[in-house]
Amino acid sequence: MKTTDVLIIGTGLAGTYVALNLPTHLEITMMCHHSTNSTLAQGGIAISLDQKDSFEAHIEDTLTAGRHTNKLDAVKTLIENAPYQIQTLKKLGVEFDYDAQKKIHATLEGGHSYPRVIHAGGDQTGQSVMSLLDQKIESANNIQILKGASLLELVIHDQQAIGIVYEMNETIQVIYAKHIVMATGGLGDLYTHTTNQEGSTGEAIAIAAFAGAKCQDMRYIQFHPTAYKNKDKGYFLITEAIRGVGAYLLDAHKNRFMDPIHPLKELAPRDIVSKAIYDVIASTQEAFVYLDTRHLKTKYLKERFPNIYKTLEKDGLTLGVDLVPVTPVAHYAIGGICTDLMGRTNLMNLYACGEVASTGVHGANRLASNSLLECLVFGKNVAEHIVSSHEHISLPSITKDPLDTWKHTKTTVSNSYKIHKACVQEIMTKYVGIVRYDHQLKLAKSELIRLLSPLKKIRFDHVDHAKSYNLVSVSLMVVEDALNHESLGCHYKEIEKKGLKSCKDL
Ligand SMILES: Cc1cc2nc3c(=O)[nH]c(=O)nc-3n(C[C@H](O)[C@H](O)[C@H](O)COP(=O)(O)OP(=O)(O)OC[C@H]3O[C@@H](n4cnc5c(N)ncnc54)[C@H](O)[C@@H]3O)c2cc1C
Repeated sequence: MKTTDVLIIGTGLAGTYVALNLPTHLEITMMCHHSTNSTLAQGGIAISLDQKDSFEAHIEDTLTAGRHTNKLDAVKTLIENAPYQIQTLKKLGVEFDYDAQKKIHATLEGGHSYPRVIHAGGDQTGQSVMSLLDQKIESANNIQILKGASLLELVIHDQQAIGIVYEMNETIQVIYAKHIVMATGGLGDLYTHTTNQEGSTGEAIAIAAFAGAKCQDMRYIQFHPTAYKNKDKGYFLITEAIRGVGAYLLDAHKNRFMDPIHPLKELAPRDIVSKAIYDVIASTQEAFVYLDTRHLKTKYLKERFPNIYKTLEKDGLTLGVDLVPVTPVAHYAIGGICTDLMGRTNLMNLYACGEVASTGVHGANRLASNSLLECLVFGKNVAEHIVSSHEHISLPSITKDPLDTWKHTKTTVSNSYKIHKACVQEIMTKYVGIVRYDHQLKLAKSELIRLLSPLKKIRFDHVDHAKSYNLVSVSLMVVEDALNHESLGCHYKEIEKKGLKSCKDL
């Protein structure tokens, strides 16, 4: 029987930070099946460091962005613990960018009343932090990583999570653990256009829900306002920090359009900017709006945003010279598996942290650059709780082999998952985007149910069917939550126009 003390599903910032905060006498197993979004993070980490700034102001901005539906104790925990976590990162060796006065440099981002987003490597904060933490994980003798492993099922015994079933190298296996941490990130890849890594489909949320874990706020999918369509790849995020240093948004007629929409103009909270761009695009029939940096110095932009500069340069665009076409795309999952402040779910010994978790910290709309911080603060809390409870946890004797259900499941190559994913992406993009209509959500629901019904019967026949089942199920969770709730924050429902029968009438 394969066992480990702590099993962490996910090797992004959340999972990695939990692992590095656990004592070395614990045996830790981590697993991942695709690259992390954490490495892609650009803008940075929000923290109030300056004397003119305050925790109160950061809390207020977080609540304003979240439409005051955030859980206040989660917000306070996030913000008040930020300095300690940043100190820890610095001690681990993360080098943040400094200004001429030798203070950590902080930038303004959307929804922030003060420049408080600190960064590393200019616009490569995620890469800078993760490359260092990954090295620490690789060199730790008590941590092993199962790369290319896909979570398939949580094994539950008497309301206690005791193990998982997973597939790796075309073999279905089981591993038992005293503590299981879900750190599986977001679900942007449920949409055709996203800033997320391929594979960020949120299937683990459906798996947790099937096991009895409570999930919430699935309707709140944040769209990032400014993604650039790479000539040879997918969408490339252009950090809000670029608007923080003065970039404008222009419509097809080269006019700024944010002025009448919000007092913070281009730096309004993200949902407001994305919706404004959506409206401009709809009214002009253009596929994008423009990010204008022509009034800013190319030399400065190149130094401050080296990665964005390089990426655009490959497509023949120069920051400070050219207008950059941008459009909103799916970016961040606010909802997920419900947890308390220690990352505990309603199932014993099952934790969740990072983007997959829903602590209530973001309310109806996440404030920019609060999510890397979320991984750190709540990741540390999860580790603390595991340590405090470890002595009292024992694995029960297992009477039923969880692999029995999977013993006839094929793992050979099939394209069923690929096809289901393409269908799901089409449905989610068409009907569950920035602006939603009840009749479209109902269409999405019926189309997803149509996909789900046959999968229900065959899901244990092939691992691809099982994964497709989870993929469609998590999409359905988003749609049902959207149908059951009124508009707020980044869940924006438009009142249906009279006479509309289908999306073709729009
Ligand atoms: C382009 C981009 C830029 C961003 N910029 C910022 C920023 O500047 N500041 C900020 O605060 N936030 C930013 N964010 C958001 C932030 O990066 C994420 O919210 C955060 O990194 C999520 O970390 P995580 O550890 O929860 O998930 P991830 O880093 O996405 O890691 C998820 C892990 O789970 C694994 N996994 C998932 N499902 C399974 C499964 N079924 N089986 C096995 N393994 C699985 C994956 O393989 C991966 O290892 C950005 C996001 C993107 C996409």
